[in-house]
Amino acid sequence: MSELSYPYEAPASQALFDRAAAVTPGGVNSPVRAFRAVGGTPRFMVSGSGPYLTDADGREYVDLVCSWGPMILGHAHPEVIAAVQDAVARGTSFGTPGEGEVALAEEMIARVAPLERVRLVSSGTEATMSAIRLARGFTQRTKVIKFAGCYHGHVDSLLAAAGSGVATFALPDTPGVTGAQAGDTIVLPYNDLDAVREAFRAHPGEIACVITEASPGNMGVVPPAEGFNQGLKDLCSDNGALYISDEVMTGFRTSRAGWFGVDGVVPDLMTFGKVMGGGFPAAAFGGRADVMAHLAPAGPVYQAGTLSGNPVATAAGLAQLRLLDDAAYAKVDAVSKQIQGLVTEALAKEGVAHRLQTASNMFSVFFTDRPVRDYEDAKAQESFRFTAFFHAMLAHGVYLPPSSFESWFVSTAHDERALQKIADALPAAARAAAEATA
Ligand SMILES: *Cc1c(COP(=O)(O)O)cnc(C)c1O
Repeated sequence: MSELSYPYEAPASQALFDRAAAVTPGGVNSPVRAFRAVGGTPRFMVSGSGPYLTDADGREYVDLVCSWGPMILGHAHPEVIAAVQDAVARGTSFGTPGEGEVALAEEMIARVAPLERVRLVSSGTEATMSAIRLARGFTQRTKVIKFAGCYHGHVDSLLAAAGSGVATFALPDTPGVTGAQAGDTIVLPYNDLDAVREAFRAHPGEIACVITEASPGNMGVVPPAEGFNQGLKDLCSDNGALYISDEVMTGFRTSRAGWFGVDGVVPDLMTFGKVMGGGFPAAAFGGRADVMAHLAPAGPVYQAGTLSGNPVATAAGLAQLRLLDDAAYAKVDAVSKQIQGLVTEALAKEGVAHRLQTASNMFSVFFTDRPVRDYEDAKAQESFRFTAFFHAMLAHGVYLPPSSFESWFVSTAHDERALQKIADALPAAARAAAEATA
């Protein structure tokens, strides 16, 4: 699909993108934002309110990305903004302990039973990187098992066969990661317990941990098969390895206790980000007290951060979590179901082969007629249909993730008007998907 065939233009975004390209590689600060997978001009957003984003050309979109998950209450929620303004007025960073970070950790621990201790950091990448280091320090072993299609941030050793932007661009093992870093990572197919069993057999006493997305959303939504997470946990326990559940995406989104609240499998360590930061850079890792006790200054495994537990970020995260009660999750779940229904109805009407996959209120559409259980299945979809679908939705004012390897996200703020706008956009988008050619 050539850029010229898009039926709309975005001159202000294009001008900003041209400026950006002169100062930043690819014009963006995180690759998937660049629209390379779908083509066209990325939209530069100037404001957000509830379920809507407004771009530099003054066009309004229903947002189904929600900043890739964090904005579960919608944009500029008044109570979150008030908490932020209150915190900002008292200073933005002290480099000392403060009450806000204690309160946020307490709130997280109160919600997620396996979390006995929490360390705050500033990004999901830092959380998984630190959790892996801790697992290695605790077990005194080197190897890590991860799954193809699972994304754990841009940690050197975890970029092998990662989903998300790496999936979008089909990057091989990225340049800049050394053989030593990648060599300690064992990449296995998702949802394949036999492969994990075999890896433990092949590397006795060497595997420090298994890290997995609690329910993967970075190859599109591919939930764990019945018993998969428990099987991982049991294999780890039997082999002296730690089970790390990466809940950066699912944490405080798929339920008040994240994916743990859905499947109840107890990890040794967990990682968080996205929702817990309320739109600010706050993330965390935590879990068993005896394992976390190995972290500096309590123990020998070093980990630190100038802005960790930042007072503005923790105020935003705490305000957001406190608003996320049972009613809020019921609302997000209901909105998600409604949109799922609209999407399948429109695609079915046009006879477009597709699989709508869900994990609580996370969902995504694969343009294939087969169930998607792992990364190979995900890659087998007809992504060119997504491209056509994406641009038609965008032209009609609905902002989807600009890649077929990403979850869609909704919020408590998605109201009747937003749903109507989605419903109005779908028939043309479904037709575009039906008519698309590779
Ligand atoms: C987003 C994400 C990360 C990385 O978080 P950043 O804040 O972008 O560094 C890690 N793991 C999962 C499962 C994610 O979805």
